[in-house]
Amino acid sequence: MTTDRLRESDRAQTGQTRVNFSDLGLSREVLRAVADAGYIAPTPIQEQAIPVVLTGRDMLGGAQTGTGKTASFTLPMIDILATGRVKARMARSLILEPTRELAMQVAAHFEIYGKYHRLSKALLIGGTSINEQERVLDPGVDVLIATPGRFLDLFERGRILLADVKILVIDEADRMLDMGFIPDVERIVSLLPRIRQTLLFTATMPPEIRRLAAAFLINPKAVAVDPPAHPAEKVSDVLVTVAPNAKREALRRLLRSEKVKSALIFCNRKRDVDTLCDSLQRYGFSVAALHGDMPQARRTATLAAFRRKDIPLLVASDVAGRGLDIKDMSHVFNFDVPINPEDYVHRIGRTGRAGLEGRAFTLATPEDGKYIAAIARLIRRDIPRIDLPGLSSVELDSGKVKRRRRRRKSNDRAGAGRETRPEARPDPAAQARETGRVGGGADPGKSTPPGESRPPGESRPVASAGARGAKAQREPAHRARHGRKPDRGGKPDRDSTDDAARGKTPAGLGDHVPAFLLQPPPAIRRKKP
Ligand code: AMP
Repeated sequence: MTTDRLRESDRAQTGQTRVNFSDLGLSREVLRAVADAGYIAPTPIQEQAIPVVLTGRDMLGGAQTGTGKTASFTLPMIDILATGRVKARMARSLILEPTRELAMQVAAHFEIYGKYHRLSKALLIGGTSINEQERVLDPGVDVLIATPGRFLDLFERGRILLADVKILVIDEADRMLDMGFIPDVERIVSLLPRIRQTLLFTATMPPEIRRLAAAFLINPKAVAVDPPAHPAEKVSDVLVTVAPNAKREALRRLLRSEKVKSALIFCNRKRDVDTLCDSLQRYGFSVAALHGDMPQARRTATLAAFRRKDIPLLVASDVAGRGLDIKDMSHVFNFDVPINPEDYVHRIGRTGRAGLEGRAFTLATPEDGKYIAAIARLIRRDIPRIDLPGLSSVELDSGKVKRRRRRRKSNDRAGAGRETRPEARPDPAAQARETGRVGGGADPGKSTPPGESRPPGESRPVASAGARGAKAQREPAHRARHGRKPDRGGKPDRDSTDDAARGKTPAGLGDHVPAFLLQPPPAIRRKKP
């Protein structure tokens, strides 16, 4: 693929317009860095936001990841910060991110866009050495990129002076809300100088975010772009309906029969991420896990290995579903149907990027019927269904949630009973044959390894009643909404770092309803099954 075609497809994917970056008032250095990054035209959010930010005005941005919003605030910030100097222990700007991964990604983009400037930055995220972060802060920094918990930890140690903060960015505000970070954010804002420029980005506008916007922003300019309500055109997505106890086998069959170069496999709950990863490893697949309970160093190393394609398969919770920009991924597998329909779009949008074809498979059990129906409503089409040879397909249940939940429990129990039976390990010779393929699984058509229909040594981890009780107390709001416990990333320190399934109800902005909240999703081109 030529660079031009790549750029052209990037442009189509992020919805760029025909306006040029040079029309937006950015400096020559920033324009050079943007050109080096291969961007040929600004995306709609960049086109709208950059001139506003450059004027120093507060802004309320209705945009989510995938729209190019990071550059919409980092590019003008670089130019604003280029004039002025840091003072010891002082920060000149602060970007708050809900997850460590997003913070790292923003820091990486700062590096790319600021390559022709000499701006200093500090990345303050949990799970990494606090002493090292203190050291970086000592001479003062132009940009602080932080998750709220670690930021407050360092502030309380007296390591950051905030009197010089001129720009505050609150990114993914609705996600901060979902993750319980708003009290921390409010505290941080109360520590900052009143005279500052504040940029608040959110994909949806629940009443709590509207309240925050009113409290934090002064005469803001509201800019908004459509959320990605439809999957990227280059992704062909299909649905496989199976019985709950056949999901792992269905996944293995798909991994073997598809030409998988690199794939994300999504689970809704972090405990299932590890279980599924272990199970796939036992079958000889080269796979790693990524979720919010892992130590940060391991998370970073795992992501880096996945980006390098050293590990072709990554089982992940939604921490990887949103925002993360991983190139050249051939496949996405939803081992669990996402509870929020938007997450379906985000998850499968991890593939089919940069002009490459992507394939997405969703494994649904009967009780997922309601979630599949919600996805179909959002993307305005049904997900085409396919049957897997040798696996019986099942019908989706469209019953009420309550009934389904009860059934889910009994299914889980039934599944656990089956899977905890002692099983023979797979035949090592068969495993060796399997490892010739990417991800390791056996070639289609080859004989099924022993233990195929009953996963070897797999057991469904069941949290102790005490542990479940304690966790349930920490997550009442989510449970009230969805009845399932999502991956929220664990909280070894204050900053929880994972994305979770969330109920997002765009609520409007009083007199300032952004247009994107009022527009129906664009029509979807129906794909052939
Ligand atoms: P974001 O929404 O900020 O996470 O950006 C999503 C992806 O779009 C990232 O991979 C960016 O590198 C890319 N991107 C941002 N702006 C542009 C642009 N103007 N042209 C092409 N790609 C872009």
